[in-house]
Amino acid sequence: MEKIDIKSLDYQELVAEVEKIGEKSFRGKQIYEWLHQKAVMNFDEMTNLSKVLREKLKDNFYIARIQMLEKLDSKDGCTTKFLFALQDGSVIESVLMKYKHGNSVCISSQVGCRMGCNFCASTLGGLERNLSVSEMLGQIYAIQNMKGERVSNVVVMGTGEPLDNYDNLVKFIRMLTDEHGYNISQRNITVSTCGLVEKIYKLAKEKLQITLAISLHAPNDEVRKTLMPVANKYSIEEIMDACKEYYKITGRRISFEYSLVKGVNDSGEFAKELGNLLRRKNCHVNLIPVNPIKERNYRDSDTNFVKNFKLILEEFGINVTIRREMGRDIDAACGQLRKRYMDSSKI
Ligand code: SAH
Repeated sequence: MEKIDIKSLDYQELVAEVEKIGEKSFRGKQIYEWLHQKAVMNFDEMTNLSKVLREKLKDNFYIARIQMLEKLDSKDGCTTKFLFALQDGSVIESVLMKYKHGNSVCISSQVGCRMGCNFCASTLGGLERNLSVSEMLGQIYAIQNMKGERVSNVVVMGTGEPLDNYDNLVKFIRMLTDEHGYNISQRNITVSTCGLVEKIYKLAKEKLQITLAISLHAPNDEVRKTLMPVANKYSIEEIMDACKEYYKITGRRISFEYSLVKGVNDSGEFAKELGNLLRRKNCHVNLIPVNPIKERNYRDSDTNFVKNFKLILEEFGINVTIRREMGRDIDAACGQLRKRYMDSSKI
């Protein structure tokens, strides 16, 4: 009999499985708390269960292993990047950012990515596989165990396209915000997508209170196509319609990410075009000076271009922030650390 990945079972499923092996339902609650509140990594730590039950659990289930390979602290004092090995040997990365208001963890949703954005290191080797629910949760729990501090915010902005792993993503969000488990507020979760339109409509219907971030990176389809292959499939107009629906159903303001690439999308003209596109929409724009990767020639915009871009958007009444360039010294751009690790282990 194949063992079940116990940390991917939601509360109801776990209780049902525990009953199936002849145990009372309250045992399910206890086990769920061990896994998702106390974040234990093996059954023997579940000390309020009898040894016999723990053995029975070991016979029927397994706790997906996630093992830290590398931990890099940035000189900025608030960013730490982690490289993890999964049960099957796949390697993923996650980032911890410490802010005044709490600890934020950026998690990966896939091993690799198939979206092919030109400036992104995560996509260079293509997609290997989706992450399971337990592997997404595991990144947060492993970091909290290591730091001994609770994680208050989660951003799904690491390697992978979260909406390309839709079912696991939604289950992950529901489990992370379940009061029986880790119990993070949905409002403290952000999911970033390159804009898979059908999935945005589907996500809207889930009626979650999470923040949706759209990687726009260009004010028109022509420029967007030079940066993101997905722009050949969905137009900006279609994305905007989907965002409108998302806002209508959830009441959540959309965030747009715009990575500024020198000479490609950072001129004042493009800022005006973006301003016209987003004016009077209830949204937020996050400007990110592109983090250059060695495989591509893209450069980040000069500081005065970044400031000018922001000013122009503000003239349109748009809410803009410039993302702090945290952790550049530790390969904090999507997929850079993993890429470096994979390259070096091939030698
Ligand atoms: N696939 C999702 C989430 C992962 S990437 C998405 O596309 O949104 C998270 C954000 O970082 C995206 O906006 C992505 O376009 C951006 N990004 C990736 N590599 C980058 C780099 N080298 N410099 C700046 N931003 C980058």
